[in-house]
Order: sequence, then C-alpha cells, then structure tokens
Amino acid sequence: MDKAKRKAIIAGNWKMNKTPSEATALLNQITPLVSDADCEVIACVPYVDIAAAIEATKGTNVKIGAENCHWAESGAFTGEISTGMLKELGVEYVVLGHSERRQYFGETDETVNKRTKAALAAGLKPIVCVGELLWERECDITEEVIARQIKLDLWDVTEDELKNVVIAYEPVWAIGTGKTATADQAEEVCAFIRAQLAKLYNQAAADGVTIQYGGSMNDGNADELLSKVNVDGGLIGGASLVAEKFAAIVKAASK
Ligand code: PEP
Repeated sequence: MDKAKRKAIIAGNWKMNKTPSEATALLNQITPLVSDADCEVIACVPYVDIAAAIEATKGTNVKIGAENCHWAESGAFTGEISTGMLKELGVEYVVLGHSERRQYFGETDETVNKRTKAALAAGLKPIVCVGELLWERECDITEEVIARQIKLDLWDVTEDELKNVVIAYEPVWAIGTGKTATADQAEEVCAFIRAQLAKLYNQAAADGVTIQYGGSMNDGNADELLSKVNVDGGLIGGASLVAEKFAAIVKAASK
C-alpha cells in the first residue's frame, strides 16, 4: 500500500510533565503552529491535565490522548483510571505499554493486551508501544522480542479493531537518551512489524496500520526518519514539550 494512504500521526507523550495551567499554556503555543498540519496531531497528557487540555484544544486540529488506562470498567483498583472516565472527558487516543510502564511499573504483555482490548471496546484508539532493550539488540534478538510483543499485545484483537490500533516502535535504548535509531534501523523494524501484522491478520489489514517511530525524535532528525516507507509518524517525548520543536516535527510529517 502507498504510504500516503495511511494516516500519518504525530503524538506527543508528555510523561509526568506540566500542571493543568502549564498544559493550557503549552497547548496555546502549539495549536496555532500546527493548525495547517496535513497529519493527525495528538498530545498525550497526564490524567489531571486532560480536562484543561480538551478545553485548550477545542475547535483546533489537536486531539488529546491519555498515557494509560485500566482494563476494568470500575472497581477496587486504587490509583487507576478507566476507559469510561477518559471517554467522558473527550479523550480519543491512549498510549499503552510504554517502556517506562513496562520497566518501572511492572507492565507485562498480558496487561498491555488487557488494556488494549478494553480501550478498543470503549471506542478509544490505543497507541501500543513495543521495542527492544539495548542488550536484546546486542544479542541480535530484536525481531524475536518485537514479534512476541506484537503477538501478545494484540492477542484477540480482531481485524476490524486493528483499524483503530496505532503501533509505536520505540527502541528502549533510544527513549530519552538522545540516541536515535538510524532511519534505516527504524525502517527495518517498522517493516518487520508490518510483516508480523500481515502474518497475524493479512496484508491489506497490515498495510492500513499506522506505525510510528519513537525514541529521541526531534526537529533535526524527523525529516529523515519520516521519509521511510514504513515510518508513518512519531511518538515524541522530550521534543513534544517545546512548541517550536513539536511543530517542526508535525511539519516534517505533513510533507
Ligand atoms: C517517549 O516517551 O515515547 C519518547 C519517545 O521519548 P523521547 O522522545 O524523549 O525519547
């Protein structure tokens, strides 16, 4: 499938940054800079910022996402947030399985899968993150790791539901480190992910999935990364907190 037919998506992952008033201020800077974007633009913000972020982006082309969600509709899960809570606020996307959740909060492929299915059932669009650790790459098992994550994280996700899934390839060694995968490395793994999707579903279904690269993407390297045929967008951490840098990445994706 022609890459131009897939939806290009640039999503910011704000992580644990910005209070609600700071979120409003940053979005007020971002929205005019990306108003002519020819791609989907999303800001995934901390839970407590969501209401302010929805308000600040009303009537603009910037959509708001969350950084996680629980799989249960409600119940005794102290500190968690349900899909229904996010939907009611107007959230459209949700980042799931981010490597920081996997590394620091015990997230597993099983829980990523439960969250993914719950998000889809609620009408949210999950951005499912996969990626290898540095030593896994050095041991030459990147493909094994990615294949396992894709299979388990998307277990029981139907072909129809897959239309609402975004995959983010985020090599863990490149996140927040300033070390970016080369454009060829990013393309190689994104193409591998698409091949896995084709195996699990079929080629047409795989061709329709937006696959992002994430890991120190910035205004200086976005052009080259996004020029690759299987890199359909970016999940951006650090650079999404600086309006001009984020807008430059959006511009690169709009070409
Ligand atoms: C991320 O948090 O998903 C990410 C890619 O971070 P950074 O761009 O800072 O490496």
